[in-house]
Amino acid sequence: MTATRTRLVLGNWKMHGSLADNAKLLSALLAAPRVASTAQMGVCVPFPYLAQTAQALTGSSIAWGAQDISTQAQGAFTGEVSGAMLNDFACRFVLTGHSERRAMHAESDQIIADKANAALVAGLTPVVCVGESLAERDAGQALVVIARQLAPVLALGADAVQKMVVAYEPVWAIGTGRTASPEQAQEVHAAIRAALRGVGAEQVQILYGGSVKAANAASLFAMPDIDGALVGGASLVAEEFLAIAS
Ligand code: PEP
Repeated sequence: MTATRTRLVLGNWKMHGSLADNAKLLSALLAAPRVASTAQMGVCVPFPYLAQTAQALTGSSIAWGAQDISTQAQGAFTGEVSGAMLNDFACRFVLTGHSERRAMHAESDQIIADKANAALVAGLTPVVCVGESLAERDAGQALVVIARQLAPVLALGADAVQKMVVAYEPVWAIGTGRTASPEQAQEVHAAIRAALRGVGAEQVQILYGGSVKAANAASLFAMPDIDGALVGGASLVAEEFLAIAS
């Protein structure tokens, strides 16, 4: 089947930025002519910078979002941020299950599915991140791990899954400068595509993440099941991020 999916290039600023640095980065992104690009772009920024980002990007073709969401709608959940709060800043995307949150905040596969569901309930697009560690890859378990991580998400059903984005981010490639080869990434993306097809959500965009830069983006995007990228470090450098999306 011919892919009709729009390319999506999302930046994940992680815990980087300041009002001053963000202003420079956002204006550099806005200043760039993007006539040749058909990619949708977006940035997922720290919560305190959502207001600044929304103000800068409103009316532009660049979307924005957050890096996490509470499973809860409201209440005594100190430090948490709800989907309704993200809506107050007109977010479109929210990352769920980034490997740094899985590792540092003990987020389980089920919690991540619950967060994806909370995002959908709020009308946001969850970007569900999955990926194996180096030990899991070396043990030949990459596809098993991805299937386990995806299972509670897919259990939400076709109507829900069709409104999501999935990001394959091998943990060993995040922030390490080591990228999965296009063939390694494609093998996993094809398995994710098959799983999505199994629940009637074949056209969901599947992004690759892990040390994506301008120099390696084109070879990754040439793969049939790689529909874009989730970009960490390189999204903090306007020229790099723009080149990836060009
Ligand atoms: C990420 O933060 O999701 C990521 C892929 O980071 P990097 O591009 O820096 O490896």
